[in-house]
Amino acid sequence: MTNGLIRETYTLSNGMTVPKIGFGCYNPKGGDTYGMIRRAIDAGYTYFDTASLYETERALGQAVRDSKVPREDLLIASKAWHDEMGAENVREAFFRSLKRLQLDYIDLFLIHWPRPNAQCDWKKLDLETWNELEKLKDQGFIKALGVSNFLPHHLENLLDHSDTKPVVDQMELHPGYLQEAAVRFCQEHEILPQAWGPIGRGRIFQNSVVNDLSAKYGKSFAQICLRFLLQRGIQPMPKAMSEEHMRENADVFDFEISREDMWLMSCMPQTDWLGEHPDLAIPQKASNPDQ
Ligand code: NAD
Repeated sequence: MTNGLIRETYTLSNGMTVPKIGFGCYNPKGGDTYGMIRRAIDAGYTYFDTASLYETERALGQAVRDSKVPREDLLIASKAWHDEMGAENVREAFFRSLKRLQLDYIDLFLIHWPRPNAQCDWKKLDLETWNELEKLKDQGFIKALGVSNFLPHHLENLLDHSDTKPVVDQMELHPGYLQEAAVRFCQEHEILPQAWGPIGRGRIFQNSVVNDLSAKYGKSFAQICLRFLLQRGIQPMPKAMSEEHMRENADVFDFEISREDMWLMSCMPQTDWLGEHPDLAIPQKASNPDQ
């Protein structure tokens, strides 16, 4: 995993190495998803994050096959949505994902959200789902298991009652929304925190602290956000349409944000979150099994 555009890696608790930056394949505004992913592969990204909800698995699988990059040089991650949880559901959902991707195995498979609705017994449901994913991993269909949007109490449920520790936890993380408690918990338990929305989906471009640092370091707004996350030991998962942005987002290894400026960014008011909270604002959109 060192031949791509991003040569620096994190080592996961199971020994796998992953590039320090991945590529996000959520493309809610539509457009040419296949072309976007082909550009990202051609630019040298090697880690691709998708989910059944994004409806980009087919395009990702096609782009991987057409790229002729050896499968073992790429890492493919997907996720089970909140209506794909429970033992039987998640097994079926996993094989639907595998079929859409047209691959033999998936490198990382994640539970997308810990709590599908306010009423359910989420502890039981998470464990049932996790135990079934453990079986798929033992059968060789998945290399590593992870979670997404899990807070410490959701993680503790898995850590206390199963033998498999999640290798990653993907959460909304960017300047203005740092989820300090969850990140600290992950790092204390050797779970790599991944950042979704690492540049705040562009909605935080007015942030004056980041803009001032962008001018000071001569780097773009996106580069300051990504560099900040890397210096905190987080793996950002930016999505970009243009090759220019893809290259810019990977070009963050030749400068360092000073300790003082890291504190400045860390102590900014936490006002910029995108509004989805695993316990409070549970996303209700249904997945599409026929995509
Ligand atoms: P993001 O912060 O990556 O922002 C993407 C937006 O920023 C796009 O509009 C893109 O064109 C623009 N952009 C990218 N690079 C830029 C640059 N250098 N300069 C200016 N603009 C730039 O937000 P996102 O797409 O929501 O998140 C990234 C990925 O995280 C997704 O694609 C998906 O894989 C994952 N994600 C996961 C969850 C989850 O619940 N696990 C939720 C949302 C997203």
